Amino acid sequence: MDNKTTKVVKELLSAKKNIVVIGHKNPDGDAIGSCVALSMFLTKKGHSSQVVMPNNFPDFLQWMPGSDAIIIHETQKEESSKAIAAADLIFTLDFNALDRTGDVQQPLEASNAKFIMIDHHQQPDDYTVATYSDVTMSSTCEMVYHFMDAMDGLDTLTPDICTLLYTGIMTDTGSFRFSSTSATTHRVIAHLIEQGADNSVIHESIYDTNTPDRLRLLGVALKNLEILPEYNTAYISLSQKDLDKNNFKKGDTEGFVNYALSVQGIIFAVIFIESKQDNIIKMSLRSKGDFSVNEVARKHYHGGGHTNAAGGKSDKSLTKTITEFISILPEYKEALTHVS
Ligand code: 5GP
Ligand code: MN
Repeated sequence: MDNKTTKVVKELLSAKKNIVVIGHKNPDGDAIGSCVALSMFLTKKGHSSQVVMPNNFPDFLQWMPGSDAIIIHETQKEESSKAIAAADLIFTLDFNALDRTGDVQQPLEASNAKFIMIDHHQQPDDYTVATYSDVTMSSTCEMVYHFMDAMDGLDTLTPDICTLLYTGIMTDTGSFRFSSTSATTHRVIAHLIEQGADNSVIHESIYDTNTPDRLRLLGVALKNLEILPEYNTAYISLSQKDLDKNNFKKGDTEGFVNYALSVQGIIFAVIFIESKQDNIIKMSLRSKGDFSVNEVARKHYHGGGHTNAAGGKSDKSLTKTITEFISILPEYKEALTHVS
């Protein structure tokens, strides 16, 4: 975090504030971990702080310390709108455009609070008085650690804060294997373990929670895997029927797209998941090397994210979405086949 941003934030936090910390729609481990950890830190520093999430998060994250105190806007509109309206300061974490908060966008835009962003996605919007944006960071959780350091607050690390930050760094780096994982990331992780994060318990809590239904759904996803060797591309599709037949629960498809990306020679992978409820096809895009799925998601799928991991959506049918997807690949043939 640069000196100017540090100074602005220190000044804002020099007196007791009413604070809301908010993450993006469909919060993941990094969003929950960073928001709750920051909120605990701010509370320890004497502020009044509340975490709000646009909608609920999957069962495999429900064990995270302090996550039971989160206000879920979708089901607690009154409480969430009240907290936002009463806030002097709103921290927006793990996203960088207010439309990533879905229905919370309107109360956020109506608020008189000052906004502070902490985020590692590309192309941040300008809605803040202080922006800590760094696209080279492994995760927003790692940034919250550096933020606490900049606020001279690392002495307030508690085992719960360490557990939350460890979890978000771990989930956003695919367990420390993506190229965003730096030596500094490992130093941060070492400190978090020293201060009370139980790495082995956290790994088990996240990764050893498969239900038979989820594994059967993974079986269907793998059966539906298609390879397009001429574009070094692979994709998986799951229809609403596939989901229903396997009692789909939120979070069950997390990580499925990585199987498509793990196929030898594949540098671009996508999963298409039908949602009859939202009337969209939700897409997760992943890549290796320089091929930017952020660009593809922004250009074609009302989405975005990082170079190697992005999300988006289509309002066409599943079949049409896939046909159209295949039809845009020639546009990227050069980038997909001439890999450095
Ligand atoms: P996932 O595919 O796991 O949902 O998301 C991958 C990455 O892309 C995450 O960093 C997530 O925050 C981002 N992302 C997912 N969906 C969207 C979207 O609709 N818009 C934008 N801008 N980013 C997204
Ligand atoms: Mn993140």
